Amino acid sequence: MDAREAALRQAYGHAVRWLASLSGRRVPARASVEEVVRALGPDLPDGPSPPAEVVDLLATACEPGLTAFPSGRFYGFVVGGGEPAALAADWLVSAWDQNSVMRQVSPAHTAVEDIAEAWLLELLGLPGGSAVGFTTGATMANFTCLAAARDEVLRRAGWDVARDGLTGAPRLRVLVGEGRHMAIDLALRYLGLGRPEPVEADDQGRIVPEALVRALGDGGPAPTVVALQAGEIHSGAFDPFRETVDAAHAVGAWVHIDGAFGLWAAASPRYAHLTEGCERADSWATDAHKTLNVPYDCGLAVVRDPGALRAAMGLHGPYLIHDDERGDPFEKVPELSRRGRAFTVWAVLRSLGRSGVAALVERLCRHAEAFAEGIARIDGARVLNDVVFTQVCAVFGDDGRTERVLSRLLDDGTAWISGSTWRDRRVMRISVSNWSTTDEDVARTLAAIRRCAA
Ligand SMILES: *Cc1c(COP(=O)(O)O)cnc(C)c1O
Repeated sequence: MDAREAALRQAYGHAVRWLASLSGRRVPARASVEEVVRALGPDLPDGPSPPAEVVDLLATACEPGLTAFPSGRFYGFVVGGGEPAALAADWLVSAWDQNSVMRQVSPAHTAVEDIAEAWLLELLGLPGGSAVGFTTGATMANFTCLAAARDEVLRRAGWDVARDGLTGAPRLRVLVGEGRHMAIDLALRYLGLGRPEPVEADDQGRIVPEALVRALGDGGPAPTVVALQAGEIHSGAFDPFRETVDAAHAVGAWVHIDGAFGLWAAASPRYAHLTEGCERADSWATDAHKTLNVPYDCGLAVVRDPGALRAAMGLHGPYLIHDDERGDPFEKVPELSRRGRAFTVWAVLRSLGRSGVAALVERLCRHAEAFAEGIARIDGARVLNDVVFTQVCAVFGDDGRTERVLSRLLDDGTAWISGSTWRDRRVMRISVSNWSTTDEDVARTLAAIRRCAA
């Protein structure tokens, strides 16, 4: 057995033990940063060590400091877990080590990406023929789509951003709902567009259509981008697309939708109504590492007009091998070299099939409803949002009391749930996004919440 194979076997053993520990272990980490540093040893070694020993040291020293993100009882932020086929495929992605930058250099990756693209568009109910870029996450997917948007609306106003930059360009308006995710603001900063104009949202964080129409009419015709949202991180609410997308198009605006976790509602016949009208937009950003549960990192930037995306992200290098007819993967994302992200996406879609993806979405929503019902029965607790998708926000009295329940819950260790501030109140924010969460996980977590609230 050579050193590489020995290291891989060592990694396999540790990975399998880690995954097997998830159902029973405390969700928060047991060790502190300092403890892990001590276990690893802070000093750079003078010479080489056998790879298998290095893997063993890494896994052994890190294990107590790992947070059980892939546990069925992790409900913080919005995270997914590694669905089995996707996780296993991800190991192959590292072993195969394909640089997925050019179409013609890895026929296998190109074939898989082509198939995955078509499947994604079908499942998400988006226009066939749209371009799909595989990014690191939804932040970069939003950035990618908004770059195409910026360049295209300014091009229509007679301005070439790629050639002339933004200095002296016509003013570009970017309208967003007050309830948007801050990743939109970050993407706009990267793009040199500064702060967007916030438009009133309702108590669930949905943009108010009449307020958007008013804002679109203000200040005369100008190049405009409207960024809407499918899935608000506190309430899970969806912007009313039917009442907003056409209104924005009527004044020539580009409509982008951030659907990092929510866009997947479209894959379920029971929840597809939430995304109705969203297919008429111009671009969509989503994550595969949230609702679809592929390992980090994988976001998806979808743009209806492949030419607009290529104009924003494409380039020509004398040493690259270009596919001028079909375009190359790197012309759809910000980076050049990248791992073969389409392999894991293909694997989870092939593993679940159409009905499996729908069942996954429906299961997450069913667990969210169970959380809302269970919490509503706790003395003094109240669910603040209309639970329409996978998110639940609850209070347990005043801010101080909610905060104490949250901190006891972390000490209890059964589950990991983050706090947040929503509608001027401290809230417990539950996001159900892991494929492996079971009814029993929900019941155990509710029992822990009840203990902590008492
Ligand atoms: C998570 C999230 C993002 C950012 O996605 P990353 O994959 O973390 O970059 C953007 N928008 C929404 C609505 C999100 O939930």
